Amino acid sequence: MARYTDAVCKLCRREGQKLFLKGERCYTNKCAVGRRSYAPGQHGQDRKKTSEYGIQLRAKQKARRYYGVLERQFSRYFEMAAKKPGMTGENLLRLLETRLDNVVYRLGLASSHAEARQLVRHGHFTVNGRKVNIPSFLAKAGDVIEIKESSRGSDKFKAVIDANSSRPIPKWLDLDRNTLQARVVSLPSREDIDLNVEEHLIVEYYSK
Ligand code: SF4
Repeated sequence: MARYTDAVCKLCRREGQKLFLKGERCYTNKCAVGRRSYAPGQHGQDRKKTSEYGIQLRAKQKARRYYGVLERQFSRYFEMAAKKPGMTGENLLRLLETRLDNVVYRLGLASSHAEARQLVRHGHFTVNGRKVNIPSFLAKAGDVIEIKESSRGSDKFKAVIDANSSRPIPKWLDLDRNTLQARVVSLPSREDIDLNVEEHLIVEYYSK
């Protein structure tokens, strides 16, 4: 499966904000956004006038990169969102937010979306008692997500959970830290989604 393999900090610098793609490093003063707050590349420091299309493109790229989704899959999410009742932009973010890899990241069971995706792919999680190793699996309200019993005691998981224990868990999810059993309390509303993007710009981008 295709995946992005270049330096991820460039993506944050391009979008001009932290996308938290590198786990713990993102919370330290080694973060590249803090140290070089301009776009990467030879012309990164040039002052440019951004067109309307450019603004819409940046909003789409920001959301896509934050969730680590490739172009074609992202446009499929947009099509799904447009078919649902309600606001398309909000539907789109809700779909992305309920991906299993994002849920694992939000629960603090992984340091980054990339790590969450890898852990899911390696079969460390169950949903309603059944192993699910598909990062794009969409969680529903009431779903119970657990670390597979044989993985629960692993040192790697313990270290990741300890490192992320101070990260707040959104209110649409609930995690029992003793049993490491999580539940999707409800689908997230826009206020629950901690991504600084104007989703109407993404809708405008795809509506051309
Ligand atoms: Fe982005 Fe994290 Fe790199 Fe900072 S350290 S630029 S937040 S990926």
